[in-house]
Amino acid sequence: MDPTMVTIFVGTEKKPYTAHMDLLTHYSDYFHAMFKGSFKEAEERNTSMEDVEETLFGNFLDWLYHQTLPCPLSDYSLHPRPTRPTNPGTDLRTSAKLDIVTRLYALGDQYEIPNLRRDAIDHVFDYYEREGVVPYYRSVILTYDLLPEDSPLCQLLIDRYIRKGYLASVHDYNENKELNTDGKLRADLPHAFLLGMMVKGLDTMADLAAGKKRKSMDVCDYHEHASDEEREKCKEERKGKKTAAKNTTTKATEPAAEAQPVTAVVPTPTLTRIQPATVVAPTPMPTRNQPSIRRWISKIL
Ligand SMILES: [Zn+2]
Repeated sequence: MDPTMVTIFVGTEKKPYTAHMDLLTHYSDYFHAMFKGSFKEAEERNTSMEDVEETLFGNFLDWLYHQTLPCPLSDYSLHPRPTRPTNPGTDLRTSAKLDIVTRLYALGDQYEIPNLRRDAIDHVFDYYEREGVVPYYRSVILTYDLLPEDSPLCQLLIDRYIRKGYLASVHDYNENKELNTDGKLRADLPHAFLLGMMVKGLDTMADLAAGKKRKSMDVCDYHEHASDEEREKCKEERKGKKTAAKNTTTKATEPAAEAQPVTAVVPTPTLTRIQPATVVAPTPMPTRNQPSIRRWISKIL
């Protein structure tokens, strides 16, 4: 077998997948310790991830090779606002997509992949910011089920509710109570979540009573920055990405006659990431033109 590859036996059926060792060890401290250390896995170049479902592992490989999550925000149908009747079909599809991202975050937690956690939390944060809704009860239950209660993702869900100022599933606003499947999960909300809501809620009430202004949420509060400098750098990068994305959108919607002059500077693409300079890009790499990483992998096997 190619010495740059490792085999991972995935799921309870232990289906073998191969992946580039350099990529795995670059992003994951767990795999770095395993394959670059003196464990037998390093010698045999294989391991197993029996607790990870194959579909989720496929989503992970897509992220590993392309740095993409399975459901870009533009794929979500715009969510009905809580003040309006909701469409349960759309809601369930949306929460199912968020479930995948939550599971990827948990995988990043278990296998020590900070960049995956960062991408997943950015996705969840941006989704709720864009839609202006509170998290689904279902998402809260799943998140607390998969992660420790002090995890940044758990805290983000609490803060989102505190920010909105009420405890209610978006489905609680559904006029047809029979369709309010998510609202029925209220009794199952985790104790740690409710306690966190109570403590932060009381703090917020005290702040407001003291005349303090309610702050807008900051995604960097949920990033794992090693220093203040790193946090500032992250903020600047996000600001740059937002400006670039805004300019791109504006241009796309402008009529051709009013398009930017040919000399206009095209904004830098928003796909740049923080990566140590030492990363070695393995070859051959699958590209976005290929239909699916899973199909590519099946060709190798
Ligand atoms: Zn940050």
